[in-house]
This record gives sequence, C-alpha cells and structure tokens, in this order.
Amino acid sequence: MTVRVYNFSAGPATMPLEVLERAQSELLDWRGSGMSVMEMSHRSKEFVSIAAEAEARLRSLLGVPDDYAVLFLQGGATGQFAAVPLNLTPAGASAAYVSTGSWSKKAIAEGRKYLDVQVVADEKASNYATVPAEGSLEVPEGAAYLHYTLNETIGGVEFPYVPQVDVPLVTDASSTILSRPLDVSKFGVIYAGAQKNLGPAGLTLVVVRKDLLGQARPETPSVLDWSAMAEADSMLNTPPTLAWYLVGLVLEWVEQQGGLESMAERNRAKAELLYGAIDASDFYSNPVAPAARSWMNVPFLVPDPALEKPFVAQAAEAGLSGLGGHRSVGGMRASLYNAMPLEGVQALVDFMTDFEKQNG
Ligand code: PMP
Repeated sequence: MTVRVYNFSAGPATMPLEVLERAQSELLDWRGSGMSVMEMSHRSKEFVSIAAEAEARLRSLLGVPDDYAVLFLQGGATGQFAAVPLNLTPAGASAAYVSTGSWSKKAIAEGRKYLDVQVVADEKASNYATVPAEGSLEVPEGAAYLHYTLNETIGGVEFPYVPQVDVPLVTDASSTILSRPLDVSKFGVIYAGAQKNLGPAGLTLVVVRKDLLGQARPETPSVLDWSAMAEADSMLNTPPTLAWYLVGLVLEWVEQQGGLESMAERNRAKAELLYGAIDASDFYSNPVAPAARSWMNVPFLVPDPALEKPFVAQAAEAGLSGLGGHRSVGGMRASLYNAMPLEGVQALVDFMTDFEKQNG
C-alpha cells in the first residue's frame, strides 16, 4: 500500500497526487505513442505538442500578454541570477537590487560578477522581517533595472505589492509563482525555478517582455541567452523533457482547481490557519511583519532551540514531513505550496497544539 505524508518541504516539494497518478498512468505509453515521454525525441511532434500545450496553459493561467516570451530553461533560478545581468546590460552597467534576505543576497552576489550592483533597500535593520515600504524604492540614475525577490523562501517574507519604478522590473518568483494572480504587465522579467509550485526540479521558467530581448552580452552562454532561446522555442539544446511534461500536468491541475483566483483563496485560508495558530500561542512565534508574511513559506520558532529536533522528528512520525528550517537559520518552516491541502495544514496545527501541551 502506498503511504503518502503531508510534505512541507520548501522544494523540491509536494506535488498534486492527481498529477503523479496521471503521470504514472502515462509512464509507459504516452497517449498511444508506444513510449514514455522520457524516451521521446524533443523534436518529435508528440513532445513539441506537450511543450506547446504547457506554454499555452501557463500563458492563459498567468495572463501573460502577447508581447512577452515564455521560456523553459535549465540552470535553476541560480542560473538566472547570472542570466539577468548578462541579458539586460552591457559590460560596465549598473542595476538596482533590493535585499530582503538570503535569496536576494545570492542574486546580488552573482549580479556583482557582471555589473555594479546598487543595493537600494536592505532590510537588515529588521533582521529581514520586512519589505521596503510601498512607494519608498528609488532607482538611481543609470541603473538598468530593479531586481527583487518576490518571496524569500527561507525568511518567509513576501512582497504584498508590486514596486512601481521607471526601469524594467525583474523578479525572482521561484517560491510564489502561481500561488495567486500576478499582473505580468508590470514586469520586465519574471523567473522561477519549477520545484515548488510548477512541478519537479530541472526546469526554470522565464517570462520576459520581448522588447528586452536582443541585447545579451556577446559572451552570454547560449543556454542562458533569452533571445537565442526564444528563437529556438527553448530548444536550442535538449530541454528537460520529463520536467516540462510534468509542469504541463501541474498547470492542467491548477486550471481544474479554478485557476489562480481559486489558488489564492485556498492559499490565503491555509496561511491564515497556520499564522493564526502561531499568533494565538505563547509557545510558537513567527518574526515576520504581518504585512510581509509569506503565504508559501512559514518559518516558526519554539521557545527553546533544544525542542526543534524533537519537534521535527515527532512531526515526521505523525506523517508531517520536511518541517526543519533551512540549514542556514534553523528553527522550523512549513511550506504551503499549491499542492498542500488545507487538511495538511490542519493536521500540522493539531500536531503543534499537542506538542505545545506536552512541552509548553
Ligand atoms: N530563489 C529562490 C527564492 C529560491 O527559493 C531558490 C531555491 N530554493 C532559488 C532562488 C535557487 O533556485 P535553484 O536551486 O533552482 O537554482
């Protein structure tokens, strides 16, 4: 018998059971082709149709305007930390970055290899528990774009608004894409690793406004060159075919759930349930300013760090997996991606209540 746990891992993360079952049923023979998707040439008409269908679904779900290219790349969001400056600026350029925590800092460090990074806001003073106040971001003269991390997966800090600036807005949406509607037209570039809300690891989504294409530095690796990839329908080289197919199935599932409005309602309810339980208790705490609390990643602490290991171990025994905080910060963290049902969050809250009774 298959036993499935509630998996709160930050990524790779839980996938919808219906998607896994569908993939299982199609694993040996994809719709009469006589072969598995993982055995297909990426140039075959079967795979080209899988790829095109996934793109069409993504465009419709996220409301991607026609003047944007949608790319399915490799190299993770980390690859895009380099691709962003390489594709958007010439040598010697500068760009503005916002630092709201661990992933912003990684984007900044990688960006510094290629340009003059100007950090226009750094939430260090709050220990990265906040985002800059709406309307406060100022882009210095000459900066080519503004980069920010829409959702900090480790710190659990999410922008509740889209910054308004006069330069192209670039965002790392890895851990929040598809969790709620997003006005794509406000952005120059949106990128995201797939392994949270989109599907399995191995695929990186880039949505880029077409007028920003065609200016990559000559030394840009071809696999990171958005224009070259756009021209080749993301198949300049062999794409991660299986991951692409699975992302397509996840997108179909999101559609069946009622799209992003419906995802937002469910995700809001899940987040409210967990934050509500944390705030109502004197035992658990979450340091993030309420307005900037992530719907997707909820870090929390117990009063005594010595209780963290027993918490995580006993939770795992109760079928609640992946609750350890990121290795860089410790504590606990529950990731509540689209595929995590409300019942999973309720089971976590019930476990937390019991654990508090025994250890509080
Ligand atoms: N940005 C964010 C917000 C992330 O959560 C992650 C991965 N957890 C990354 C970037 C890095 O992604 P990848 O491992 O796909 O390069």
